[in-house]
Amino acid sequence: MKIAIDGPAAAGKTTLARRLAEELGYLFVPTGAMYRAAALAKRRGLPPERARIEVRAGGRILLEGEDVTELLDDPALDELSSQVAVDSAVRRHLVALQREIAAGRQVVMEGRDIGTVVLPEAELKIFLWATPEERARRRLRERGGNLEEILAAIRRRDERDSTRQDSPLRPAPDAVLLDTTGRSPQEVLQRALELVEERRARLAG
Ligand code: C5P
Repeated sequence: MKIAIDGPAAAGKTTLARRLAEELGYLFVPTGAMYRAAALAKRRGLPPERARIEVRAGGRILLEGEDVTELLDDPALDELSSQVAVDSAVRRHLVALQREIAAGRQVVMEGRDIGTVVLPEAELKIFLWATPEERARRRLRERGGNLEEILAAIRRRDERDSTRQDSPLRPAPDAVLLDTTGRSPQEVLQRALELVEERRARLAG
């Protein structure tokens, strides 16, 4: 089975996708990290639409053969990656890579356009959501900083991600909306595992 997890910035997609993949023994593919690696390539003066990006076990990311995973959480790449992600040449390049990775595999892939564009055939699509205020509070707990600034940055990124021409952030028509506001990561994981079971039962029957 292929599982797509989409949703706005800081909704907990990476945490859920990673844990779900571990539970199920599937490959975890963080496409947000791939866009971050493309942004890092650009910062290094390399063309992001041709950057050699690879995804390894546990969602580790290689850029031109170098493991850059630890560099990708840099808050400066939040903004730069969402700018780079507007570029259709970058999207074509990364979407092709993502489809190649998923071909013939059981994957949990997280991002913005997985259910709509990358894997429209995914058997389970989850659209993860939380209010911008809750997402800002979570980011503050993870990274520290100033709540108002984090909230403003999240709103800016939501706006750019959902209004861009190419593959805007929106739920696929057949996605299950999962509101995580006020729910712990463990509760969200449990709900996702229930959805997987329901989907398996339906596919089997
Ligand atoms: O999810 P994360 O915050 O790591 O993603 C960084 C940026 O990459 C997002 O703001 C979004 O603009 C872009 N992105 C995208 N499509 C994806 C995954 C991420 O456009 N599938």
